[in-house]
Amino acid sequence: MQPIAAAWPKAELHLHLEGSLVPATLFEISRRHGCPCGLDSLAACQALYQYQNFAGFLQAFKTVSQHLLDPEDYALALRGLAQDLKRQNVVYAEITLSIGVLHWKKQAVAPVLEALEAERQALHNQNLRLAWIFDAVRQFGVAAAEKVLSDALYWRERAPVVAIGIGGDEIQGPAVWFESLYARAAANGLHLTAHAGENAGADSVWQTLRYLHPERIGHGLRAREDQELIRYLAAHGAGNAGKQTESPIWLEICPTSNVRTQCLLRLADHPLPRFWQAGLALTLASDDPAMFETDLNQEFSQAAALGLSPEDCRQLARNGFLAAFLPEPDRAAYLNLFDSRSPQASGK
Ligand SMILES: [Zn+2]
Repeated sequence: MQPIAAAWPKAELHLHLEGSLVPATLFEISRRHGCPCGLDSLAACQALYQYQNFAGFLQAFKTVSQHLLDPEDYALALRGLAQDLKRQNVVYAEITLSIGVLHWKKQAVAPVLEALEAERQALHNQNLRLAWIFDAVRQFGVAAAEKVLSDALYWRERAPVVAIGIGGDEIQGPAVWFESLYARAAANGLHLTAHAGENAGADSVWQTLRYLHPERIGHGLRAREDQELIRYLAAHGAGNAGKQTESPIWLEICPTSNVRTQCLLRLADHPLPRFWQAGLALTLASDDPAMFETDLNQEFSQAAALGLSPEDCRQLARNGFLAAFLPEPDRAAYLNLFDSRSPQASGK
């Protein structure tokens, strides 16, 4: 049977380029560079993705990033990802680039961005539009994040860099550190997103809201531990419960990711249905599809398995365009496209 969302034109908003590298491509890249980390077989590359916890996942992400040594590696990664997005009928994606990791590797940003931009432009007329989110690493600190912001401000004049984000270890890199940086990013017209409530508790989500004022939160999983936070987010909810606010705070929900990083023990415990019923503004995403052996269509199947009705799933997919960092006329065009290709399910 076809997955519920397969035929709908979709937007994917929480998607790391580095995490989209399938083992076969990783092996190809590793071999090209003489297997610097011992990834000298497909089996070794597959084994890298079998981690046991969040620290193991971060380590695997780091190892993959260390293999992306030249611009062609990044271009190859994007080529594979774009093919996969088209297969899934994704028509718009905001791809997160770990610019903080590029700096950490002492790799020049410009040649990588030029290679990625050449790939992106080649996708024109192929029904897939891409935009970039420049991501800093929380635990690398503020000075490192400042360099990511500088790059974002430089590149947004030359490429569709729509937002900045932070990811990584919330405990080692608290939101308060990045308060003034986020304020400057917003003042300069960048959109804001931040991973929070993934490997740290509800307080990390509160702090992220208080200090960073993001339009979207990556995961927000641990909001489930705090009823007051759920009420707050519901008051800033959107659409699904018929009480859309003017500037919703969106949560980018990635169910498979949460289980694979062991931030959640079982999929059945995922708060997605609870958040949905409470009226939170939600979108669905795959996060690191290759590293979690998933894709966006599969995430919709997970949402259905968690109890969302077909019409709920359709609304959730539609939210992808509502939450996208798109200019308004383009958003309206995508919503029209979505509505024309996804007939409302009868009976909710
Ligand atoms: Zn993520």
